[in-house]
Amino acid sequence: MPLSPEADRRSLDDLVSGGLLDAQAAADLGPVAAAYPVTLTATLAAAIDPMDPGDPIARQFVPSLAELLAAPEELADPIADDAFSPLKGIVHRHADRLLLKPVHVCPVYCRFCFRREMVGPGAKALTAAELAAALDYIRRHEEVWEVILTGGDPLMLSPRRLAGLIAALDAIPHVAVIRLHTRVPVAAPERVSAALIAALATADAALYIAVHCNHARELGDAARAACARLSGAGIPLLGQSVLLRGVNDDEASLTALMRALVKARIKPYYLHQGDLAPGTAHFRTTITEGQALMRHLRANASGLCQPHYVLDIPGGHGKVPIGPAYLAPGPEGGYEVTDLAGNRHAYPPAPADAATSGAPAVLDDDGRVLRSSPEGSGVR
Ligand SMILES: *Cc1c(COP(=O)(O)O)cnc(C)c1O
Ligand code: SF4
Repeated sequence: MPLSPEADRRSLDDLVSGGLLDAQAAADLGPVAAAYPVTLTATLAAAIDPMDPGDPIARQFVPSLAELLAAPEELADPIADDAFSPLKGIVHRHADRLLLKPVHVCPVYCRFCFRREMVGPGAKALTAAELAAALDYIRRHEEVWEVILTGGDPLMLSPRRLAGLIAALDAIPHVAVIRLHTRVPVAAPERVSAALIAALATADAALYIAVHCNHARELGDAARAACARLSGAGIPLLGQSVLLRGVNDDEASLTALMRALVKARIKPYYLHQGDLAPGTAHFRTTITEGQALMRHLRANASGLCQPHYVLDIPGGHGKVPIGPAYLAPGPEGGYEVTDLAGNRHAYPPAPADAATSGAPAVLDDDGRVLRSSPEGSGVR
């Protein structure tokens, strides 16, 4: 039976009837679907070009046999959430902030998900008692400045349950910031209703939303309207993207993504190096490739378009920036700085440069060069 365009695709059969998979491929993919959930919302299904075998949206959500290939370096719990979980639903790795995971379902299931062993319709949400225990833990830990709601996807909660949770967190005096990580605005924008936005209102805590988005085409009309409703309600939006082979690992796609985010009033926050989740090697780039892309982005796009390129160190050692370096040690305690064209400059400039530049050097009282030439004094 053909699927209505409004229906979500929740199985391989749905992907076949939606024209996104042929019947033979679906038969072969049985073991993948048995291992990891399959769901693609109508909104994102509509963004796929079925004629493009390498479509960057399809690649993120339509299962592939490559998911059954485990690479030796891959880990079921790549960033060791479990090792830092003092009780169910909480990951407390850094003293000042923790993750609270009230639900384990998502509007879509990304094939590269770093928590793919933990999310899905089969996984259980926190019970009322478990959520109460998690809130008690936060109340008892006064060092917790920020609570990050993730999962799964916290915007899969009903507005009523979400309102209860946000109000409980907002009432904890030491919780200054509530951050939600979500794919709902791009994957299921219709969920961003007036009731949901009302549920996010806080009296005291600052509430931020980090929107997970990996390709400019995910920000269609409906997604941009949902983001506008959120930012219109005074909620700052941050962008979280994963660097993915065949999705955004080329200069044009990555630049277009960052510009589309900024245009939707979403400030790019993190570009994640792909985590070592099982069966995701076909999505990972090398870090060297990622650094080259970041260098291109820095040289060709607005400063607003620059995310931090980060690696979550396997084993639970936290996220660190792994972007290209522009600064290296130079002679005599100075530095060598690389400009956007790849040319290297001594910093501070050597006095000899000043003498040969054709313009009188400007020195301070101690004889240090303040300015070597009129060009050197330009606006930065
Ligand atoms: C990613 C993460 C955070 C948030 O890190 P930020 O750098 O503040 O965005 C907090 N706790 C854990 C366990 C995380 O994995
Ligand atoms: S939305 Fe996030 S948690 Fe859910 S499947 Fe995608 S990457 Fe995983």
